Amino acid sequence: MKALIVEPSRMIRNVFISLFTKNNIHAEGVETASDALAELEKESVDFLCFSMQLKDMTGLDFFALAKERGLIGKHPSILLTSSQEAVPRALSLGITQCFSKNEPAIFENYVNHWAGSGIAKLSGSALVIEDSLSQANHLVRLLESLGLRAQRVASGEAALALLAKQPFDLILADYMLEGAMTGLDVIRKTRIMPGRAGKVPILAISGFDDTARRIDMLRSGANDFIQKPVVPEELKVRVSNLVRLRQALDYLEEQHNILYEMAMRDRLTSVYNRHYITERAPTLIHEAEAKRMPLCLIVLDIDHFKRINDTYGHATGDAVLIAVSGALSEDIGAQGTVARMGGEEFMVVLPGADGFAGASWAEKLRETIEDLEPSGLLVTASFGVAQLRPGEGYETLFRRADLAMYEAKRAGRNRVVSASEIQPR
Ligand code: GH3
Ligand code: MG
Ligand code: MG
Ligand code: MG
Repeated sequence: MKALIVEPSRMIRNVFISLFTKNNIHAEGVETASDALAELEKESVDFLCFSMQLKDMTGLDFFALAKERGLIGKHPSILLTSSQEAVPRALSLGITQCFSKNEPAIFENYVNHWAGSGIAKLSGSALVIEDSLSQANHLVRLLESLGLRAQRVASGEAALALLAKQPFDLILADYMLEGAMTGLDVIRKTRIMPGRAGKVPILAISGFDDTARRIDMLRSGANDFIQKPVVPEELKVRVSNLVRLRQALDYLEEQHNILYEMAMRDRLTSVYNRHYITERAPTLIHEAEAKRMPLCLIVLDIDHFKRINDTYGHATGDAVLIAVSGALSEDIGAQGTVARMGGEEFMVVLPGADGFAGASWAEKLRETIEDLEPSGLLVTASFGVAQLRPGEGYETLFRRADLAMYEAKRAGRNRVVSASEIQPR
């Protein structure tokens, strides 16, 4: 990367050069328009800035002359002036932007931004879908220069096969491809993929200057569009914007999930809380009914827990709650969901378990707690079990399991009672 500064005052020139070297970009300064033209003839630059007042001509004339000689590329061409007068003419000539010499901070910010987007490396993987090998190689090199890992396929069919297998952080899709599919087909099929694969940023590329097709690609789910022949700087900026935006969204989603988990988990024991289970249980019930599968709900309450608090202190009580929750979660694993309803009362939802299986699960949990001896104490719990009845809602199911649990307490604690025992059908 190289910047050229055309400015008669040595002091100002050095100030501007330092803006670039601070950003690790090589900058050269020249005094006059003719020196600048000679420099540009020798070697192209990535950034050109020049003053309005040059010794041999105006900045406008210098730019017009350089342009005429084909020395102005796709790089920013910046005019530095002390008055606003020349701005409209400068812009109509094709000068990228004008900055006031009286407000160097604004120019400095522009340079930092330009340099930053050129330097800061991206990370992740990109898929280039392009039938022309030479063009694909060119795109792959550009993406790699940005820090992305890039892979190339020539057909839409190959692209979809790859997308189904591995995640990408960006897709570059050409319109014309090998095989039966176009880039548009790939975009449509990608957007209906489940999960993260369907949300990958897509930059569409096409050689056709066809507005309708461009709109079609954007409407079908492309996030942005770039015209062939691809201008490297433009591609880099568009790719960088897409990848960074996706990363920002990923970060937001992650934060959202963390906050959701925090809101749905019990602080003390880390099992789900009442809030979560009252939201989740109706869904589980619905799913069970749809699949014509049984579902069981267990309610359990630690026996004489108040005594533990009163005798050994609240901290020991807390330790007992943590140990009991951990043992419940470990026993149940992926077979069901454990939640703390409040105090020393827990609930377990067991999709797929009928009344019989539910009762044996409860018996297993009862033994686990009895054998646990958290903080060296004998702890027991009373259990109520209810199997979902056809058409029943969460609330009545819970009430039946809770009543069965109270029956277990009444009958002497440390036991399992099934709702069907106390409310025969
Ligand atoms: P039962 O066998 O009839 O269930 O008697 P119990 O003592 O277990 O029931 P009770 O409802 O009388 O007492 C529950 C106690 O649990 C009272 C309350 O202070 C205590 N408790 C509730 N939440 C917590 C907690 O987070 N930590 C601790 N250490 N104690 C708690
Ligand atoms: Mg092509
Ligand atoms: Mg209790
Ligand atoms: Mg209780």
